[in-house]
Amino acid sequence: MPGRLQYKSALITGAGSGIGLESSLLFAQEGANVLLADINLPAAEKGAALIKHRFPDVTAVAIQADVGKEADIKHAVDVAVKEFGRLDIMFNNAGIMHPKDDNALNTEEAIWDLTMTINVKGVWWGCKYAILAMRQNPLDESKGLRVGGSIINTASFVSIMGAATPQLAYTASKGAVLAMTRELAMVHAREGIRLNSLCPGPLKTPLLMDFLNTDEKKNRRLVHLPMGRFGEAVELAKAALFLASDDSSYVTGTDFKVDGGLTSCYVTPL
Ligand code: NAD
Repeated sequence: MPGRLQYKSALITGAGSGIGLESSLLFAQEGANVLLADINLPAAEKGAALIKHRFPDVTAVAIQADVGKEADIKHAVDVAVKEFGRLDIMFNNAGIMHPKDDNALNTEEAIWDLTMTINVKGVWWGCKYAILAMRQNPLDESKGLRVGGSIINTASFVSIMGAATPQLAYTASKGAVLAMTRELAMVHAREGIRLNSLCPGPLKTPLLMDFLNTDEKKNRRLVHLPMGRFGEAVELAKAALFLASDDSSYVTGTDFKVDGGLTSCYVTPL
């Protein structure tokens, strides 16, 4: 059976952990060559080594990139195109939730700026260089390869609903990701470039679990989750695979929610 991403190539940021790592593995399993970009190079290298071990038919390359630096993102896209000959999928997934991010009164400007640089500018730059690369994709109908591609930007459920446990810079940054993605999707719709936001609910990954480091903090959230549990990174990877593949060929500009029903919830089951 050919994979759903056969002959395609993907660049994934934040690929060393959580959603990015699970997506790297799943995309490779489905036949894609994958460039794993992360600020933490050893983590990205570990992911690439896992792919080489499990899926020897595809190519996996690890690279250090800080998405808060435009030059790093441009370099990562250049490396993907050089290694794989094309870039079909850009997954702008890296993001931070700073422990000192708080409410309007307590959040320091430096924390606000850092969060916006990584979570918003990083996604903008990722879109910018991916769009430039995707316009150059060679057409190869025999392999089902087209000009254009799929760009997925990780937002969050907090871009849609408010939380009384505030992390204001993070929330505002993810709202910006949603708005930016919708507009880019419209601008580039006729170029065969699809852009969608992925909106995860709260997940069992280091980003959230390092922060919810007591049972009290975990339970404060769990009571609001319709399914009574946090999500798993691999559940987001499966949604990212749908958005990355041609299975979603008529899906663009959407806020794709994978949140266990959280954003539809008024009262949770007992
Ligand atoms: P994670 O902590 O498991 O992984 C994040 C990865 O990003 C790490 O490998 C880290 O090294 C990397 N990273 C951090 N800063 C970077 C930078 N400046 N440049 C490049 N890489 C960087 O987190 P995760 O839960 O998989 O989060 C992935 C995305 O999902 C983030 O954008 C996050 O905001 C979003 N998200 C997560 C949750 C959740 O509950 N975990 C919920 C909603 C949205």
